[in-house]
Amino acid sequence: MYRYVDPGQFIIVFPKAFTSCISTGYVVSESVYFAPPYWLKTARNLFDDLKNSREPSMFSLDRLLLSIALDAKCSTEILRQIIPHIEELCQQERAKRDKLNNFGMMETERMPLPDANIRKRKRLQGEEGDYECEICRMNLYISMVFDTQEGVTYCLDHAVEMIKNKKSQINNCKFMFSYDYKELTDLPNKVKLAIETKSQKKVPNKYAGMPTLLNK
Ligand SMILES: [Zn+2]
Repeated sequence: MYRYVDPGQFIIVFPKAFTSCISTGYVVSESVYFAPPYWLKTARNLFDDLKNSREPSMFSLDRLLLSIALDAKCSTEILRQIIPHIEELCQQERAKRDKLNNFGMMETERMPLPDANIRKRKRLQGEEGDYECEICRMNLYISMVFDTQEGVTYCLDHAVEMIKNKKSQINNCKFMFSYDYKELTDLPNKVKLAIETKSQKKVPNKYAGMPTLLNK
């Protein structure tokens, strides 16, 4: 199917859809990613598919999950929904770090978080401001292994694979992370505590069920 898009019109592209565009003149366009909360249920599978197919990911799912988990304005419903994802993420991340530690990786460096010091991060990463794995092209956020000899970065899965195949390579590798081991261990409980605190503060809405305008 094809169609022309006029100014003011927009196209919604659903997950697993492929698109291409042909421009016959000067074009200004912008795309925005958005998703309803229930998308989180299948998000990990979609990103695993991307990783396996080595398609570049447009953003880091881990970063999205952590941003939601640490957002003070996030509703208890979303936080409850996100808890299993955060637990899985933190548990898997720690397991991968344990594997790297067992190889004897010693040199580590904490990366500045994007929001904390974007200029410094951009200087480290180049113009795009993002890191990606040399093998699977996943957008890297929580951690990565930097090969100082080749000047490339790897996700932890592919770093483990690379070092398994060539043990001496570990001497040129540096482990870089945004969140340390303890922060990842504490995070699920931090989110659970936020849910508890928010639930206690919840004041019953006397206008519940009324049309939206009357709530204001
Ligand atoms: Zn990778």
